[in-house]
Amino acid sequence: MTNQMSMEFDSKSENESFARVVAASFATQLNPNLEEIDDIKTVVSEAVTNSIIHGYQMGEGKIFMECKIEGNDFHITIMDKGVGIGNVEQAMEPMFTTRPELERSGMGFIFMKTLMDDIEVISEPDIGTTVKMSKRIYG
Ligand code: ATP
Ligand code: MG
Repeated sequence: MTNQMSMEFDSKSENESFARVVAASFATQLNPNLEEIDDIKTVVSEAVTNSIIHGYQMGEGKIFMECKIEGNDFHITIMDKGVGIGNVEQAMEPMFTTRPELERSGMGFIFMKTLMDDIEVISEPDIGTTVKMSKRIYG
């Protein structure tokens, strides 16, 4: 079975919970258990918050989200056209943050890595950031 959806929304913190609920409800087709739903909600929150705070630095912009179901696998992509990341490897290290003054703990990517089976981050300064994640749903 395959199924796909995509959407685009304004970079506003109000839309973080909206995106989280959309991804989680699309994933219900795979009969996830509560923990798997929570994991999906958490990683969507982390990635969307990163696009809002870091990518667009709380300014205007569009965030794109695509969800895909392939067999028992749930794939999600969150993309922004914000400032991008110079050194992706460093950004994904535990406790690395470029915004300590905002009390960020630098753990967002670690949550995404831990809660999903697979994560790929593609980013380029001034072009934007794409975060692709996959998780097998056992239900
Ligand atoms: P936390 O998520 O714990 O609040 P954080 O957002 O700083 O803190 P991560 O989510 O792990 O931590 O991100 C690490 C760093 O990667 C960020 O501080 C930022 O420099 C960079 N980053 C992450 N996502 C983006 C993005 N979409 N656009 C630009 N930079 C990003
Ligand atoms: Mg973060």
